[in-house]
Amino acid sequence: MALTLSRKAMAVKPSSTLAITAKAKELMSKGIDVVGFGAGEPDFNTPDNICEAAIKAIKDGFTKYTPAEGTLELRKAVCEKFLKFNNINYEPSQIVVSNGGKHSLTNIFEAILNPGDEVIIPAPYWLSYPEIVRLADGVPVIIHGEKANNYKVTTAQIEAACTEKTKAFILNSPSNPSGMIYTREELEEIAELAVRKDFYVVSDEMYEHLIYEGEAISIASLNDEIYKRTITCSGVAKSYSMTGWRIGFTGSSKEIAKLMASLQSHQTSNPNSIAQKAAYEALVGPQDSVCKMREEFRKRRDYMYERISAMKLISCLKPQGAFYMFIDVSELLKKEYKGQLIGDVSNLAKILIEDFNVAVIPCQDFGCPDHIRLSYAISMEQIKKGLDRIESMIENCCA
Ligand code: GLU
Repeated sequence: MALTLSRKAMAVKPSSTLAITAKAKELMSKGIDVVGFGAGEPDFNTPDNICEAAIKAIKDGFTKYTPAEGTLELRKAVCEKFLKFNNINYEPSQIVVSNGGKHSLTNIFEAILNPGDEVIIPAPYWLSYPEIVRLADGVPVIIHGEKANNYKVTTAQIEAACTEKTKAFILNSPSNPSGMIYTREELEEIAELAVRKDFYVVSDEMYEHLIYEGEAISIASLNDEIYKRTITCSGVAKSYSMTGWRIGFTGSSKEIAKLMASLQSHQTSNPNSIAQKAAYEALVGPQDSVCKMREEFRKRRDYMYERISAMKLISCLKPQGAFYMFIDVSELLKKEYKGQLIGDVSNLAKILIEDFNVAVIPCQDFGCPDHIRLSYAISMEQIKKGLDRIESMIENCCA
């Protein structure tokens, strides 16, 4: 008898952001001087006050199970953050703390989708969205944001993609990978459509503290009707340089929160108790480290934008938030390298890592097969070195 495996699991493509980052780290560990523009992982240490809170949690013996949905203390702090920073009023019973943003998104889609339900996802999208939707038996429906519209989708595009099976729309502002932000007017239009067509908005606001131009506006804050239909998702990873601690959270209706907490109670139990104490300190403690990191990211963004804009064959828009440069390489793909057509972004990424020791993310898994993504969550020195190498690769193709 041939034992079979899960078709659903086998259909999942492993995360290329994590794979490329692992590859870059492996090369570095062998002493190869690789510049890693791969995963969006801030290079700063987690701030001291947050680490101290975690050490105290261990010393105090805060090392046992907590409520599956997170401690009341942390959920209250999340409510405070939502109220003060996002202008959204949630009660602790509407908050679920999970093992990172991906886990929060997994809970959301498992709680709202039935088999065949459609989820509209604007491309460029963060590569895990379609996979998470599929794993929850949903059907991703991709629509494309034009470069001329700052890679954002219009309400007309969303409406045209709506069917009687549409269950949700994923909003990600600031966007990973484009760094673009939806304006208040755009969000008002999306909210009006969501209410009229009666679908949920899953608002991934993970990069909410990393905004250089424009305003952080949470769609759930606009009015009562959209508040009821929105699940707001965020976490501490990017804002507080806490990627490894794995704490994400959601604000939603009590009904959805209850479902997510119930799912989580069987799947993982509580998120790590020590990380919850650290996340509490991140939210209620001094916020100066966030400002410092943001200002450093801004400098790197400005430098990268200037350098990339001056290069031949590639172009990018100036991101308004997050920490990624989303680069149009369509002209470069038409060129030859070592007598062979470059052709596609995977090959371009392969050439860059193998011959120039630069790790970049090819964006076919982000719905944009003629773009690459460079994270600027690495030091300025590394950024300069990496851009010099990319420039020499381009010069080589032009020679
Ligand atoms: N979200 C980050 C990125 O896009 C981390 C890697 C991942 O989870 O995909 O690079």
